[in-house]
Amino acid sequence: MKLTILGCHSATPRTNTNPTSQVLEIKNHMFLIDCGEGTQVELRRNKIKFSRIKHIFISHLHGDHYFGLIGLVSTFRLLTRETELHIYGPKGIKEVITLQLKLSDSWTNFPLIFHELTSKESELIFEDDKVEVYTIPLKHRIYTNGFLFKEKENERKLDINAVLNANIDKAYYRKLKQGADVINEDGKLIKNISVTQDPIPSKSYAYCSDTVYHEPIIPIIKNATILYHESTFLDKNESLCERTKHSTARQAAIMAKKANVKTLILGHFSTRYNGYDEFKSEAQKEFENVLLAQDGKCFEF
Ligand SMILES: [Zn+2]
Repeated sequence: MKLTILGCHSATPRTNTNPTSQVLEIKNHMFLIDCGEGTQVELRRNKIKFSRIKHIFISHLHGDHYFGLIGLVSTFRLLTRETELHIYGPKGIKEVITLQLKLSDSWTNFPLIFHELTSKESELIFEDDKVEVYTIPLKHRIYTNGFLFKEKENERKLDINAVLNANIDKAYYRKLKQGADVINEDGKLIKNISVTQDPIPSKSYAYCSDTVYHEPIIPIIKNATILYHESTFLDKNESLCERTKHSTARQAAIMAKKANVKTLILGHFSTRYNGYDEFKSEAQKEFENVLLAQDGKCFEF
């Protein structure tokens, strides 16, 4: 899995900071998560091929999370894209995007498929043979979802020497990888455990922005490999969280600890701060393994 941060700040774009957008590369997918202003420029800067993006996940309809979307859709059109584009986001996203296409008579020549979300419960919104994506219902000023990206359980690994010694026909390799016992060429039952090894543990990425500290999400994000949790403010400005429905670095870290995740990435920083080291030190009082998002930074895990 590879996560590229295109933007990790709140509110307005500034000279050196972009609003929220990121790309998650997982099992051959390039999932775009949120699409603030400047996303196209950052995709180019990070050399991410536009044509590889087939699924876009929008958390909520505050501008700093989707004002780049119509521009990107429009560029796809100019690049004469033909493949489907799936957009997942709150109800209303179809209306706001299609109105702009309609008024400029700029209908796309590729299928533009909206998946509008309304549920307040976590739901499975994407699935193929390798990956699942679930919503994470968050608590913000308007309807908002985070997203949980999960690899499906990986196949067992063949111990190739053991398999050859056991005289098993190649036609059974697939079954072995799926965990089944098989009969060998001599008609003898071969126990799966004797010729395979445990699979590589599957990984998951939980994206949670924007939200107040919200414990009901803990069962959904439990044991995630990586949690990206917004930390718009520092603890000294906690009073702003209630009004704006955001979190502090300390709260994000408590969430990481209670959900037993491996690593926490902090982001969605308010532009009122000049540096972000204090976010890390504040969070590390609660949870050790903390990283800071930064525009243009890649995390591989
Ligand atoms: Zn917001």
